[in-house]
Amino acid sequence: MPGERAHNRTRVIPFQLRQRSPRLVACSVCLRVWEEGAWIEAGEVICRLRTFEHDDVVRLGSSLCDRCEMELRLRRRSESDALAA
Ligand SMILES: [Zn+2]
Repeated sequence: MPGERAHNRTRVIPFQLRQRSPRLVACSVCLRVWEEGAWIEAGEVICRLRTFEHDDVVRLGSSLCDRCEMELRLRRRSESDALAA
């Protein structure tokens, strides 16, 4: 039956999170990853580190990249200007 081989979206994928699992810092807004002094697109980092081949998952720390921080500051400034007008 063809439906038996269909992708099961509710299946639980087992993974291991260990203390020694690699840790990366990602921007909470755009998901770019801080690596070697620069913000890199997540897909590029995943391909470079080949994390999909690891038994354990990557530990993620959250941050805000410089681009998203600037956009947030500008948006807040424009919103406060609009409220003052
Ligand atoms: Zn960002």
